[in-house]
Amino acid sequence: MILLVAHFPSLNPDELLYSGIARYHQMSGNTAQKQTINELFGDRLVCATVDLPSHIRHLSERLGSLYTVEELIMKHTLFPYYSAFLPQDKARKVYGLMSEGESHGEVHALLGIPASLIKLPNYLRFCGICYEEDMATYHEPYWHRSHQIPGVCVCPIHKVALIESTVSYMTREKKFQFTPLTDLEKYSASNLCFQINLLNQYAMVAERSYEMLKSVNLVTNCSSISEMNLYKKGYLTERGRIRFLKLIQDFNDYYTQEFLEHLQCAVDGQSETWLHKMIRGNDLMFHPLRHILVADFMGLSNLNSTENFGIGMLDINGGKWQQNIRPKKTGVRTGTPIHDWKERDSLILFEVEDVVKNLKSRKAKPQRVSLAMVSKNLNKAKIPFVLEKCLHKLPKTKHFLDKEIETTEQFQIRRLEWAAMHLSERGFVQGWRLMKAAGLNKPLKEAVEMKYNQLLDSNQKFS
Ligand SMILES: [Zn+2]
Repeated sequence: MILLVAHFPSLNPDELLYSGIARYHQMSGNTAQKQTINELFGDRLVCATVDLPSHIRHLSERLGSLYTVEELIMKHTLFPYYSAFLPQDKARKVYGLMSEGESHGEVHALLGIPASLIKLPNYLRFCGICYEEDMATYHEPYWHRSHQIPGVCVCPIHKVALIESTVSYMTREKKFQFTPLTDLEKYSASNLCFQINLLNQYAMVAERSYEMLKSVNLVTNCSSISEMNLYKKGYLTERGRIRFLKLIQDFNDYYTQEFLEHLQCAVDGQSETWLHKMIRGNDLMFHPLRHILVADFMGLSNLNSTENFGIGMLDINGGKWQQNIRPKKTGVRTGTPIHDWKERDSLILFEVEDVVKNLKSRKAKPQRVSLAMVSKNLNKAKIPFVLEKCLHKLPKTKHFLDKEIETTEQFQIRRLEWAAMHLSERGFVQGWRLMKAAGLNKPLKEAVEMKYNQLLDSNQKFS
């Protein structure tokens, strides 16, 4: 056990666990891979899995906890990428399978990877510049996680085309073979091909994928598209229907056809596509690559934003989730009412802010900003229910209204200000005229009296 810890290589930043095991095998001098697997995992049938390996707890234990299970999974596998948009229970299940180890292929099956149209890369990839830099820094090259993600064709750091090796990604025949990147001289390798004018689009996918990998400890979810996003972008009619025709057209204009087809993410306007389903918030799993494409198209800058996603944190000790705040998946469905109150709150706040702004900037005689007045001025097509009755379920809207709704004094002061402005356009403001225009009678409340005197003073100075 102690010897094992001493000989296991330090895992480098963004290095695949697969890569570390391959380097260990090379250093161990073992002739058979089976021997290496026995040393690292005990007498278990462990396959050389590139992206989502299993039996990690056994490895962590045999390494004398040199690396915790969480470190190995979060920093050296593609788990953070694949779990980013999963519901908590599913992400937890995948994590558990990777930690404890189950029968071959179960993790992949759970994530729908074999059935997905988006295929895994055929071979492992690397970046020529990372290779040189790793040689300089660590004295040997290694396989990076961020280069092995589906749809990633360029290095997220150097923005150059990745080089495809001849080491198989899916280890069908050589199930137990871990091949280090140093063995590469023996193989021929070639640059991945794509249209160079689409480099920016490929670079975006690489960068966003890399960001997802780095979100250690975070499991984000779930629906990238909230009603609010659709509304702001003009993809929601006043009756809450989704303008799919416009949305699909814009999506296809945003990306090029070649790019979408290359990534197996093309969308035609004719039939029900993955994009329709994702926008409607169907309770399905979508490939992270598709979430990335939609997030970038919708202008969602940060995939980890708590504004757009609920975040659950993984508790490594109990295997439980510290926070359980993931909201129910937002069900955006054509023509049906919105049932998610958190979502409604944002949508209504947006409308209410607008109404208050308009009420306060009116040129005509002021109207008091009251709950009834705000409610009366709301667009009934957008907010088809009684605001007063639902306010207790709308914390953000309530907080805003608590600040904005006027007391009698505040409203009297605003009337004085309006009257003074109105009268000063015609010259000198007399006290009695000001009172009359503002609709006030003496005696005034203290704060109102102060404002009254202040307005008369300033008027005399300037006229
Ligand atoms: Zn690179």
